[in-house]
Amino acid sequence: MISALMPNFSRADIAFDHGHGAWLFDTQGRRYLDFGAGIATSSLGHGHPHLVQAIAAQAAKVIHVSNLYRMPQAEQLAARFVAASFADSVFFCNSGAEANEGLVKAMRKAQSDAGHPERTRIICFDGAFHGRTLAMISATGNPKYLAGFGKKVDGFDHVPFNNLSEVRNAITAETAGILVEPIQGEGGIRAADEAFLRGLRATCDEFGLFLGFDEVQTGMGRTGKLFAYQWSDVEPDVMSLAKGIGGGFPMAALLAKEQVARALVPGSHGTTFGGGPLACAAGNAVLDVILADGFLEQMNEVAAYLRAGLVALVARHGSVFTEVRGTGLLLGLKCAVPNGDVQAQAMRQGLLSVAAGENVLRLLPPLIITRAECDEALAMLDKTAQALTMEIAK
Ligand SMILES: *Cc1c(COP(=O)(O)O)cnc(C)c1O
Repeated sequence: MISALMPNFSRADIAFDHGHGAWLFDTQGRRYLDFGAGIATSSLGHGHPHLVQAIAAQAAKVIHVSNLYRMPQAEQLAARFVAASFADSVFFCNSGAEANEGLVKAMRKAQSDAGHPERTRIICFDGAFHGRTLAMISATGNPKYLAGFGKKVDGFDHVPFNNLSEVRNAITAETAGILVEPIQGEGGIRAADEAFLRGLRATCDEFGLFLGFDEVQTGMGRTGKLFAYQWSDVEPDVMSLAKGIGGGFPMAALLAKEQVARALVPGSHGTTFGGGPLACAAGNAVLDVILADGFLEQMNEVAAYLRAGLVALVARHGSVFTEVRGTGLLLGLKCAVPNGDVQAQAMRQGLLSVAAGENVLRLLPPLIITRAECDEALAMLDKTAQALTMEIAK
C-alpha cells in the first residue's frame, strides 16, 4: 500500500524535532551538525533570533494580503536588492523553478517587445539544474528528470558547459538568451571559468541576446559574496534567486535590468503568494544579517579555514576523496567511492551533507558556521573516511 505522504523522495530515516545554530536534533534526542542546510537554504542556521523574531512579529500583524495591494515589505526588500546588485527591478515568487520560469518568460517577452517575437529559444548547459516544472526539466535537460513525462517542452538547446565556441555555434535567429549557473550545484559544484562568463557576456551583446544567471543555489552569500557573479566582472541581464533568500522560509526572486523587467507588464505574469508580507519579512531579516558589516568577511575566513581542512583530508584519504571543489561555503568533495555511501557514513558520524552529480558530496553549512564547528565536521569526515577505508579493505 502506498504511504499517505507521496513517495517521490528517498528520505533518510531520521525526523528532526528542532534546531539551534548549525545543529539539528532528531526525535530521539541525537544531534547532527548540519552541513546540508536544507540544500543551501537555511542560510542563518536554525532558530536564528533575528529571523525568528521578524517572522513572528509579521505573522502577528498580517500573513497574507495578495498582490492586489501595495506591499511595503516587498518594496523595501526590492530596493535593497537593486542597491546591492546589477538589477533595476525585482519580482518575488516562491521557488527556484518558479523564478526560472519567470526568467524565461521575461527573456522571451523582452525580445518580442524589442521587435523579435521569433526569438524564443534559450541556450542551456549540460549538467545544469533549473527545477522541476515541465519547462524547467526541459531547461535542465537531464534525461533522468525527463523520463516518463512525455515530449520535452520546446525552446531549450543544450551545449557543453565552459565551451564558448559550442555556445556560439548553437545560436540561431530564434535564440532569445542564455541561462547558466555561475557554479553548477546539483551538477557537482562545477564552476564556470571567468573567461567563459566574459565570453557569454560578449556573445550576448554581439547577438542581442539576454544573459540569465541561475543563482538559486550560489546566491545570498553562499559563495562569500552576496551573489556569485560578483566574483567576476560579468553582470547578467536577469537572475533568479531562491534557496537561501528566506533563511528557510519559502521564497524566490527574479532580479532584472530595466529592459527585461519592463516586459512583465500588468497581466503578463503573476503569482498569488509571491512577495507576501511574511516572506518579505524573512527576506529582509536575512539581508540584515548577511549585509551587516563584516559578516561576509568573517564567513570567508571560516570558509578558507574549512577548505584548507578539506584539502588536508583529501591528502590523508586519497582512496575515499580525490578533490575539493567550490567557493565560499558552496563546497564539494569528489569521492572515489559512491557519494551516497559517504553521505550515509557521515550521517552515522553525526554530519549531514548532500549528494550531487559527478559523484560529489556537497558541504553546505549555514553561513553562521564557526571554526570550532568546522573542526568537528572535519573530525567526523575523518572518521567517515576511516570507516569507509576499512570497508574497502574487507
Ligand atoms: C534548487 C535549484 C533550483 C530549483 O529550486 P526549487 O526551489 O526546488 O524549485 C533551480 N536552480 C538551481 C541552481 C537550484 O540549485
